[in-house]
Amino acid sequence: MRKPYIAGNWKMNMTPSAGAAFAHDLAEAAKKAGADVKMMVAPPFVTIPAVVEALKGTGIIVAAQNMNDHKSGAYTGEVAPDMLKDLGVNTVILGHSERRSYYKESDEFINKKVLLAIEEGMDVVLCVGETLEERESGKLEEVLSTQLSGDLKDVKAEDMCHITIAYEPVWAIGTGKTATPEDADSAHAFIRSFVAKMYSADIAENLIIQYGGSVNASNVKALMAKENIDGALVGGASLSVEKFLPIITFDK
Ligand code: PEP
Repeated sequence: MRKPYIAGNWKMNMTPSAGAAFAHDLAEAAKKAGADVKMMVAPPFVTIPAVVEALKGTGIIVAAQNMNDHKSGAYTGEVAPDMLKDLGVNTVILGHSERRSYYKESDEFINKKVLLAIEEGMDVVLCVGETLEERESGKLEEVLSTQLSGDLKDVKAEDMCHITIAYEPVWAIGTGKTATPEDADSAHAFIRSFVAKMYSADIAENLIIQYGGSVNASNVKALMAKENIDGALVGGASLSVEKFLPIITFDK
């Protein structure tokens, strides 16, 4: 049984004080509504300490949106995994399409970070997904296969329990366009079958695969009803209690 895993990627939004106040309100609202999902929020680096403090004892996971591929050293402006762990952060989002496209992160580079996160005992939400052009030219499966085999290279079977996959079609992120539940489910089924081939049927069966791309209160139920959709990675709609609460309580 895969427990639903709903995550909010705050991207470059929320100052430390705004983030702490929002996290507090969100935790209260989630508790009051009896939310029963695995829940995570990923604030910007500087907002993390205030949010960790605000969410203490709530069970809501605080994650980072990225980290460096080295343990320490002369990497100006970067953040190392042990700095995150020192704040109480044990989960990191890697391979988000905004990092792949704006910061030219390759699968090889993402793989270095995935391996380092695992070495550091962290959990990873690994984002994969195709552009519209790739989908329309029939390359969906080729793109997902390349990303999965590249990003998970040398990840051992026993460490796959630390990996969550977020399938995020690039054309659906922040655009208001969502993949239909059927299209999303079939991409998720492909990811699951690919992981079964890379690892085993058992690992694939237990793998949590989130959908991301303009998830909101009106589409979350239909998406979550699909067999292979185990959660959501939410951007825009994770920035207000009013919009995020119906998503984390989709099953109520
Ligand atoms: C995201 O940033 O991962 C995302 C899915 O954003 P949005 O929900 O705004 O499309």
